[in-house]
Amino acid sequence: MSSYSYAQIPADGGRILGDTGDRVVPDAPIVPFIEGDGTGPDIWAATRSVVDAAVRKAYGGVRRIAWMELYAGEKARKLTGDWLPQETLAALAEFRVAIKGPLTTPVGRGIRSLNVALRQALDLYSCIRPVRWIPGVPSPVREPEKVDLVIFRENTEDVYTGIEWGSKTPEAERVRDFLQGSMDASVRRGSGIGIKSISPFGTKRHVAAAILYALSRGRDSVTLVHKGNIMKHTEGAFRDWGYEVAAERFADSTVSEARLLEGEERRGRVIVKDRIADSMFQQVLLRPHEYSVLATPNLNGDYLSDACAAQVGGLGMAPGANVGDSVALFEATHGTAPKYAGMNRVNPGSLILSAAMMLDHLGWEEAARAVGRGVEGAVAARRVTYDLERQMRDATRVSTTGFGETIVEHM
Ligand code: NAP
Repeated sequence: MSSYSYAQIPADGGRILGDTGDRVVPDAPIVPFIEGDGTGPDIWAATRSVVDAAVRKAYGGVRRIAWMELYAGEKARKLTGDWLPQETLAALAEFRVAIKGPLTTPVGRGIRSLNVALRQALDLYSCIRPVRWIPGVPSPVREPEKVDLVIFRENTEDVYTGIEWGSKTPEAERVRDFLQGSMDASVRRGSGIGIKSISPFGTKRHVAAAILYALSRGRDSVTLVHKGNIMKHTEGAFRDWGYEVAAERFADSTVSEARLLEGEERRGRVIVKDRIADSMFQQVLLRPHEYSVLATPNLNGDYLSDACAAQVGGLGMAPGANVGDSVALFEATHGTAPKYAGMNRVNPGSLILSAAMMLDHLGWEEAARAVGRGVEGAVAARRVTYDLERQMRDATRVSTTGFGETIVEHM
């Protein structure tokens, strides 16, 4: 039996076993949470109440979550002296499915970002962002209801690896000398230099996760988004390896768009297609209903997820998760909004909808749907937090807690 110095393992819960896509979930699973910094505690309190109410509503007391607090960020630093204690990583690996609020990025303390550190340490290789419009949420486009996308963004490769050297440093000059002397590649003097690397291993496991998601959720297509016309050996290879893994592992359940164009029938299979990244930005505005799951390398996915979220009303209501083979970490997509900390003011929607994704991941779809219904009901009733209220006509401004309570009323 494991034990931790700071975290308490609930005595009345059981461990989630199995890997992503194949979880074995007891009726009272132990689910770790990290409440987060700044407004994190405000939105976490509302989220926890909503999730507990949804589970009660769906399963009438037969199922419940045994919550277990883990420490990261400022709370961890105060308690343990460490921004990201080793035991938090160990517990996330042990308990497998967890949820977190936003964390402050420590400035100048050797950690690039706690979120990046968590993703790397736990090998959470896919960032998953569903983007769907909730009727009533103010949107800058005419037909936000046509957007129903799930973006799978690769988390560990591409420019995210942070392999770069600053302008005029001896390291950058050595790389430049090597490129010019041995590789016949010219780089301007004084350049900062970064390395973009994309591997078959990283691409195939990521695209496979996107295909498995599409298959398990009845989604009709997976689109590989890349800039392979220009960056042939990284982005172009991402596209090629994506098609390869579809053919190698999902030959019976997927079909390429090219084969459909040649006249082959779809026969219920998931269509695998690809689009060049710049055209994809047009497609999500002009013909969003033709797309379902998007699988992207890191940088394209970074831009695309926020651009798509803007189409349905912004990051305040955008859920997300970082998922690997074993561990899945669900999180708010916005930051800590520190100026509102402790004011019971900000929108808990992003974390609440991430919690709904988590319930769905556990196979507790009825509870996930109850959360979705509650959020839709609260927005339809126009009882919303300040960020939405200031953009909606005839809306009533409610607190973070008030929004959570309104969601529960509408489940
Ligand atoms: P931010 O915390 O996302 O806040 C920027 C603005 O977005 C806020 O001032 C507020 O706008 C709005 N906002 C954010 N969350 C909201 C919510 N729940 N409800 C309503 N409005 C919300 O971004 P930041 O100020 O750049 O970053 C602050 C800290 O968070 C930094 O330390 C950063 O590194 C960290 N961060 C963490 C994560 C993460 O943990 N995943 C992600 C991003 C940033 P108005 O002022 O217009 O009301």
